[in-house]
Amino acid sequence: MTSKSYIEQVLRELKEKHAEKKEFIQAVEEFLPTLEIYLDEHTEIIEKNLLSLIVEPERLIQFRVPWQDDKGKWQVNRAYRVQYNSAIGPYKGGLRFHPTTNESIVRFLGFEQIFKNSLTGLPIGGGKGGSDFDPKGKSDSEVMRFCQSFMTEFQKHIGPDIDVPAGDIGVGGREIGFLFGQYKRLNGYTAGVLTGKPLNSWGSLARTEATGYGLVYFVQNALKDRQDSLKDKKVVVSGSGNVSIYAIEKAQELGATVLTCSDSSGYIYDAEGIDLDLVKEIKEVRRSRIKDYIDVHTDAVYVEGESVWTLKEAYDIALPCATQNEIDLNAAHEIAKAGAKIVAEGANMPSSKKAIDSYSKNGILYCPGKAANAGGVAVSALEMAQNSARLPWTFEKVDSELKIIMKNIYIVCSETASKYAEKNNLMAGANIAGFDRVIQAMISQGLV
Ligand code: GLU
Repeated sequence: MTSKSYIEQVLRELKEKHAEKKEFIQAVEEFLPTLEIYLDEHTEIIEKNLLSLIVEPERLIQFRVPWQDDKGKWQVNRAYRVQYNSAIGPYKGGLRFHPTTNESIVRFLGFEQIFKNSLTGLPIGGGKGGSDFDPKGKSDSEVMRFCQSFMTEFQKHIGPDIDVPAGDIGVGGREIGFLFGQYKRLNGYTAGVLTGKPLNSWGSLARTEATGYGLVYFVQNALKDRQDSLKDKKVVVSGSGNVSIYAIEKAQELGATVLTCSDSSGYIYDAEGIDLDLVKEIKEVRRSRIKDYIDVHTDAVYVEGESVWTLKEAYDIALPCATQNEIDLNAAHEIAKAGAKIVAEGANMPSSKKAIDSYSKNGILYCPGKAANAGGVAVSALEMAQNSARLPWTFEKVDSELKIIMKNIYIVCSETASKYAEKNNLMAGANIAGFDRVIQAMISQGLV
């Protein structure tokens, strides 16, 4: 059987089983075909049917989370954890609290996480989880009661050498703090069971910044390799959460002008460059809407109900940092028309399959999320190391390790791309390099 027909067969079987899980199918469909040339060289993977093992999670947990709102009324949410692959370490990956969270979403995120974690070069397997609970509009006490109830059940399934969750959309320091407190109440102080912890509870310095900073370090490496830099570049960023905020911060520090940021209601365009202190104030302190920006910067524009990818101004670099499938084919065309030469993904799977296909046709260098946004989970692994050693590192140490990790990820993606596809095909490079490490570990362990 050829690599191509084997991949098609695995995809066909997967689609039959999971027809309704669109995001999951999309993630696997973007992944498997890029392995074709690698499989030509590693025919034992075809002969032994090993792709079927990679696409099937080792364990999938679903549970109910009952909690009382401030009026004393009982509410119930559904929660998931996919423990996808533990070939190279304990399951590792975030928890997402968002109303759209379902099995398809956690499966796609968990699948991507396996290869992202592998690319970091650190000993972490792949997992992901979350709930359809929406922290937006809830009081701190409601969020606390939800997190406590979530962890009462979830603690049975995790541990520093088993599964180490962290944050994702809707789960930041506040939520991780509440989750950690409940784990501690039930099992004793176990710092290494969660990452992204508050600093007063053995969290790591620079973890909050890591995904956004790492994204920009990745772009910096890609530009340097092409004798270019971020200086004077115009950058469009979507989102205004943790990833966006620190991507904006680092891009500005390296001399770029960031023109936009957004939330689910609309986007801000500020030709002068985004005022990040104000965005932090609005989002992190007031927990309010990005629209408040124009109350202070009256020259900036707020566009209600639209995504930044409708922007008609010229720019050089697009950093999608909001959510999955925010860039469809139309948006990808707008990005090309704006003259962008790089799309680097801070979010997980922000580009649709058609959008990705259009990038190379339009001469855009595509930096896929599983490589470009791996800085967050990489620093989570450094947090685990600090927790095991019971020693905190300085901000500078964590940040310099992050820089090295992102440089190595860029190099491995680019070299693997050159070997199996062509240098600019960082998607093939990321997928093959991430996959190789995991599958070789599985083989050497007897495929457990
Ligand atoms: N949710 C983040 C990601 O998509 C971080 C996961 C972690 O730190 O474990 O990679």
